[in-house]
Amino acid sequence: MIYNVAALLSGEVGAKRVYSIDDEIIASPDGEFHGIYGVVKLIRTDRGIFLDAEVTAGAVSECSRCLEPVGLVLQTELEEEFFPVNGDLGSGSSLLRQKVVEEEEIPEFWIEESNNLDASEAVRQALVSVMPLAPLCRDDCAGICPECGNNRNTNPCDCVIGFTDPRFAALLDLKI
Ligand SMILES: [Zn+2]
Ligand SMILES: [Zn+2]
Repeated sequence: MIYNVAALLSGEVGAKRVYSIDDEIIASPDGEFHGIYGVVKLIRTDRGIFLDAEVTAGAVSECSRCLEPVGLVLQTELEEEFFPVNGDLGSGSSLLRQKVVEEEEIPEFWIEESNNLDASEAVRQALVSVMPLAPLCRDDCAGICPECGNNRNTNPCDCVIGFTDPRFAALLDLKI
């Protein structure tokens, strides 16, 4: 997901390139996205390159009830502006970085000196943002037994689940 944007940066504002993402992988310490497909549009702005992308990706997470691995299919759209570190791409482009500095923004995404725009971190963040907070391996996952620790999907147990919270235990004592 690295695109050389030298030609775009030295071209006219509004110029556009479209690329497809075809079965890419993004690995990071937080996890891996695989089978990434999508479309990336790169549009020259008066300050840099605007990225508009739609992606789908696979990921592996953990069931929030039984902790078994869960395969996820994620879909997201993202829009980010990338700013050139370079300002030496012919007439007009030397103003780009100056303009960013004047407007006192601190851009997150830069186009490196070789004029390569690496979209992978922006795509990764967009995919992380659509990861479900509490994924389930299946809608009716029975989860882990809080009494004996069995995975109740594969090892059903006969435990009676009582109140284990000490505040409730005190109430139970009163009833007895
Ligand atoms: Zn589960
Ligand atoms: Zn049990």
